[in-house]
Amino acid sequence: MMFAESRGMSSTISLPKCSCCNRHIMPNDKCVKFNCPNCGTDLIWRCESCREAARKYVCSSCNFQGP
Ligand SMILES: [Zn+2]
Ligand SMILES: [Zn+2]
Repeated sequence: MMFAESRGMSSTISLPKCSCCNRHIMPNDKCVKFNCPNCGTDLIWRCESCREAARKYVCSSCNFQGP
């Protein structure tokens, strides 16, 4: 019980965002993540629904669009 509860760490959890719909990806989501095939630096996240709908993603580093 020595941990300070006033730090408010729970409000700043860094969940990854889906590169297609910009929604936060939950840890139990059946998402996929891969590096951008064009520049290789950006990590693309795709949530389960976007993967099934085959939505396009946009790389935030080089604006590459891919299926
Ligand atoms: Zn999505
Ligand atoms: Zn890229």
